[in-house]
Amino acid sequence: MKEKEERILVIIKPDAIVRGLIGEVYKRFERKGFKVIGTKMVHLSDILLDDHYAHLKDKPFFKGIKKFMQSSPVILIVLSGVNASAAARLIAGQTSAAEADAGTIRGDFAMSIQSNIVHVSDSPENGEIEVKRFFSEDEIFDYKRVDEAFVYSDVHEDFSA
Ligand code: ADP
Repeated sequence: MKEKEERILVIIKPDAIVRGLIGEVYKRFERKGFKVIGTKMVHLSDILLDDHYAHLKDKPFFKGIKKFMQSSPVILIVLSGVNASAAARLIAGQTSAAEADAGTIRGDFAMSIQSNIVHVSDSPENGEIEVKRFFSEDEIFDYKRVDEAFVYSDVHEDFSA
């Protein structure tokens, strides 16, 4: 990985899976310049969800989110990119989808707080923790995107042509 490049976790949640929005989610991150370096479909276990949503365990909606997140398989994605978490959160939009900006994934496809299409890591630190929670290193790959010199020109010299 290059300096400032981050790895983050995206989860395509059950509402997006059953509504046929898998491709929409991949498309929006890919066209921005993110590199998909790991991906798989899984059914999330209680243990993984308790860990992933530990910061919400005392909220009244905790049981409801777990039930929702186990209502279908989900797709887990590892994305890499420079300043990836900040840029990816802008693409996802805010948690409450009804208030999310038009043009964001949540703003364009949802109205719910719970069923808001995607999870996106909210910081570089949480990105690493979450990637390691759901992926082993041998499930993550590296390659060069042919457009990275243009995607990141002026952003970081490691990527210059
Ligand atoms: P984010 O997913 O934007 O990082 P949080 O970490 O606060 O937001 O919440 C995790 C997930 O829990 C949300 O994406 C949403 O699915 C669910 N959630 C958050 N707040 C509520 C709520 N008030 N009612 C129901 N579900 C909620």
